[in-house]
Amino acid sequence: MTLNQNEIENLVYVAFLAGILLILWLLRSPWLKGKSGEFWVKLSLRRNLDESGYQILNDLTLPIRGGTTQIDHVIVSRYGIFVVETKNLSGWIFGGANQKTWTQTFRRKKFKMQNPTHQNFKHVKAVQELLRIPQYKIHNVVAFVGSARPRTIMPSNVVWSIRELVRYINSFDQVLLNEDELSSISIQLSEGALSPSRKTHRSHLNHVKAQSGQLGASKAKCPRCGSEMVERTNRNSQNRFLGCSMYPKCKGTRRIG
Ligand SMILES: [Zn+2]
Repeated sequence: MTLNQNEIENLVYVAFLAGILLILWLLRSPWLKGKSGEFWVKLSLRRNLDESGYQILNDLTLPIRGGTTQIDHVIVSRYGIFVVETKNLSGWIFGGANQKTWTQTFRRKKFKMQNPTHQNFKHVKAVQELLRIPQYKIHNVVAFVGSARPRTIMPSNVVWSIRELVRYINSFDQVLLNEDELSSISIQLSEGALSPSRKTHRSHLNHVKAQSGQLGASKAKCPRCGSEMVERTNRNSQNRFLGCSMYPKCKGTRRIG
């Protein structure tokens, strides 16, 4: 079968339209939103923090008693170690420094979540136990990198954009660690961190399942789109479950345990 000029042009046109539709569909997918969120955080940190002064480690898996814990970003500098938990969420956020649970609200829905600074404190402890340095040299930072906005007065270590995250990190100028300490910390972190292989991922998930009450299901993945899951409470039954962080775009849920 041979195609004449016209038919070829039509085929090219259809393929072009299909390509555009595929791209539009991908851009709307929560999976890509989640992935691009992580990508932008990594890129912005690398581009906006002076390379010689700040060592950036992404997606670190550290051992803790009875399992492992996964940390989004650890930034090592003379001004201390920044342990960063990122939250790619939308909606309005209500909470406070000492409140155990925070609330994420949408027009018609409301979810409770563990205070993310408390959740990240477990990561701070894991870093502290590995490095054996005083806690004041480790900074607990929570960065909301989605469209979520605060509706209550929030602690200063909770930031609401990647730009604010960079500004917050740069605002520390008191030297807390000397060169010798920094190089030993680098070595300890790279040796102490478990490779993010399938195996550590699986043992992490099991651990999360076992301890979801205390740890929060920090890095379980959505069965629909692969984004991070957050622990939520059903308003009527008070049952806890895992919901997709991309809600309302994705309504994936998972049972705890
Ligand atoms: Zn999802």
